[in-house]
Amino acid sequence: MDYKNVTVAGGGVLGSQIAFQTAFKGFAVSVYDINDEAITRAKELIKRLKPRYQEDLGATDEQLDEAFGRISFHTDLAEAVQDADLVIEAVPEVAAIKTEFYQKLGQAAPEKTVFATNSSTMLPSQFAEATGRPEKFIALHFANEIWRNNTAEVMKHPGTDMGVFDDLMEFAKAIGMIALPLHKEQPGYILNSLLVPLLEAAQKLLVREVSDVETIDKTWMAATGAPLGPFAILDVVGIATAYNIGNAKAEATGNEEYKKVAELLKTEYLDKGKLGRETGEGFYKY
Ligand code: NAD
Repeated sequence: MDYKNVTVAGGGVLGSQIAFQTAFKGFAVSVYDINDEAITRAKELIKRLKPRYQEDLGATDEQLDEAFGRISFHTDLAEAVQDADLVIEAVPEVAAIKTEFYQKLGQAAPEKTVFATNSSTMLPSQFAEATGRPEKFIALHFANEIWRNNTAEVMKHPGTDMGVFDDLMEFAKAIGMIALPLHKEQPGYILNSLLVPLLEAAQKLLVREVSDVETIDKTWMAATGAPLGPFAILDVVGIATAYNIGNAKAEATGNEEYKKVAELLKTEYLDKGKLGRETGEGFYKY
């Protein structure tokens, strides 16, 4: 892996974190977004990371300023990717937006450039053809707050070149991630394949009135040694996200239990402004 220049496409919640972490680890980073307003937001999001790096990693002002100095911002795609070794895509989780983006990117980027998607719910094979270079396309999935929740799931699609896969594993380590290889496509990667069923099971126990929030969490923690139970995890994930997932499943399946879960999350939590840790209250008070 001899990557030097990395372009991050989409400077939103995750893109801003990926850009800053990559620059913090010494790479030259270009951030591409659609217009000046989006670039202003990306800069603002990156600035807000500075105190987090100071608190969580003990980073110095000098290190942080140097990292910021390694980032350039662009609204012209060809300019943003002109010497990119790797483009990490963090544009909205909407298939049509991603497909159109990859078609344009495939035209604009040099032949050497590898593309990686940070999509949480879509599979890379869905966009492989649109990239025009399926062998140089892969998924690189981060977790929110990547400087401390530092997992990077590196997932091949059937057409990904093994050399590209190995390079991405190395790159993920070089930017301070725990690199986790997935040799086959898997919706939800490893983490959400494990976590989503656990969180769903906990919510079902609650709406079935089998037990209460505290007891369900206590059972999981005491029996497995886990530091948090499923409802405490839901408070971290955010109850809005849990509602969106539950509601989509309720609509897709018509299943009564999913409907009950979605209704509970909406009436008892969202409507009361209890969104989880971010608002100071969810299933628990913080
Ligand atoms: P976001 O809405 O905060 O950011 C999306 C960014 O993309 C915005 O800055 C927007 O202006 C920009 N954008 C819109 N259209 C574009 C285009 N055509 N070309 C380039 N940029 C465009 O979203 P996010 O939460 O950062 O999510 C981005 C991706 O990261 C999604 O695929 C999501 O699944 C994934 N992801 C998100 C999280 C999370 O916790 N938020 C975690 C892991 C992965």
